[in-house]
Formats: sequence, C-alpha cells, structure tokens
Amino acid sequence: MSGRDLRTEDAYYKMLDEAYSKLPEKRVKVESRFRVPRPQVFYQGKSRTIIMNFKEIAEYINRDPNLLRKFLSRELAAPSAPSGDRLVFLARIDEQAIENTIEYFVKRYVRCPVCGGYDTRLIRVHKFLILKCDICGAESPVPPIK
Ligand SMILES: [Zn+2]
Repeated sequence: MSGRDLRTEDAYYKMLDEAYSKLPEKRVKVESRFRVPRPQVFYQGKSRTIIMNFKEIAEYINRDPNLLRKFLSRELAAPSAPSGDRLVFLARIDEQAIENTIEYFVKRYVRCPVCGGYDTRLIRVHKFLILKCDICGAESPVPPIK
C-alpha cells in the first residue's frame, strides 16, 4: 500500500463519514460509545518509541495484537517488538503519526463500511481477509496484512 492509496482512502472515508452523519440518530449513538484508548507514547533514548497501553488498545478494538503490530510496523516503516503489554518500535516515531495510524487501522479493519458499527470480527477465508459485521451481517473484504 502506498501513501497515495492512504490519502485516497482517507478521502473515501471522509465522504462516508459525511454520508453517515446524515443518517438517523440511532446509528450515531452506536458509534459514539466506541472510543479507542489514546496511545500513551514514551521515548527511550533516540531510537526507541514505546506504546505503553498497546495491549489495552488491541483488546478494546478486539483485534489480534500481532496483526495490529504488523500493520503499524509496516505503515510507520519501523520494526517493532512486543514487550508485555507494551509495543516497542526500534525507531523514533512521532506520537501523532502513531495515533493517526491506529485510527486508520480502526477505520479499515474494525469499522463496518456498510453500517459504520464496530462490533465486527476479522476472518480469514483462504488468502483473503474479511471484515464481518455482527450488527448488520455484512462481509467486507479488506486488504491482507503481511
Ligand atoms: Zn455492519
């Protein structure tokens, strides 16, 4: 995935957000209960960035921590290693970039693109990754995370 794709995706989701904002109130309430914990980022020396509450974030969004770790490492172009409840990047990474990338992961791999709900699961079918929504039942293919 290139940076260009990312921006296109953002524009797409922005458009979706606008469309969703015009939907009835009930759906909006579902979304407002969903608040991903803000990453607590600490720096160790010049080349270590630590997300202290990484496990908490992965649990909140109900995703495999290793999958989230791989995604962040790839998007932020930095190797990483789990360390207990924390995630350590072997690079110095801007806090805002981490927050944005987690947000992007949630938009793409947690939020149902059909109803906007967050009660979803990722299932693997052969080589494909499917985002299955427990609210509306939609099954949306999502790009694999390598
Ligand atoms: Zn849905």
